[in-house]
Amino acid sequence: EITFDSCNQLVSQFEAVVKNPVRERSSVYYTGVDLGTACVVLAVLDENFRPVAGAYRYADVVRDGMVVDYIGAIRIVRELKAELEEKLDTELLYAAAAIPPGTDSLDGGAIKNVVQGAGFEITALLDEPTAANAVLKIQNGAVVDIGGGTTGISILKDGKVVYVADEPTGGTHFSLVVSGAYNLSFSEAELYKRKEENHKELLPVLKPVIEKVASIINRHIKGYDVDEIYLVGGTCCLAGIETIIEKQTGIHTRKPDNPMFVTPLGIAFSC
Ligand code: ATP
Repeated sequence: EITFDSCNQLVSQFEAVVKNPVRERSSVYYTGVDLGTACVVLAVLDENFRPVAGAYRYADVVRDGMVVDYIGAIRIVRELKAELEEKLDTELLYAAAAIPPGTDSLDGGAIKNVVQGAGFEITALLDEPTAANAVLKIQNGAVVDIGGGTTGISILKDGKVVYVADEPTGGTHFSLVVSGAYNLSFSEAELYKRKEENHKELLPVLKPVIEKVASIINRHIKGYDVDEIYLVGGTCCLAGIETIIEKQTGIHTRKPDNPMFVTPLGIAFSC
């Protein structure tokens, strides 16, 4: 059984450097660019693969792995890059990016062009579950990435991804449920949902949509011998989501302390 120790340590280092970048000189910097449906994240590692800076912005430039606002996406990545370069007092040259499983033929080119258009030299373009597993280091089990627009399911055997799927249900749907239940606008609901102090009260409201995600997981893992589910992605920050998924799937379900930054850090690791 894996422990999340190194993953948790890395993510908490990352959270710290998002607030206070490490300005010690490094001979090279590796940047991971995660262009998500809800959020664009840049994670920077130093020559020893330690997090030194990071920045993220909620944006509406990608939907379900597809770049829908190409110019907007370039602008955001360029702005976040400039912000980090100023904080680190260096130029960031190299970046890796990731695409949701199954969209490579569709949009890998667009994601690559966005990262290059923002001024990076792209060194790797990998799929999201492989990126997440660079940090999680799972040998066997299912990694379930519940992001903004979609839920990605990947099954690992002996450390290799043997099955992937991506389904259009994610945090955006959670926000829509909150919006309806509390009579809030979508953006108000989105902010309400992200506050940890509201999670206890929200869990029963969100139970049906979490059960829907669990049924998607069940459909995809059927036929595979999965003993453990590992949750990543911003939506899994919701306290208690793991309990409902575990109950509905009957499979031991675990998540790291902060599931939101696992994939972006994994992308940077693969740079
Ligand atoms: P996708 O993977 O679908 O392209 P993404 O990469 O933008 O989307 P993430 O950044 O992993 O997805 O997650 C974004 C989602 O996580 C949003 O729906 C956001 O509301 C949700 N989220 C972020 N923080 C929290 C939180 N603290 N509590 C609940 N939900 C959260």
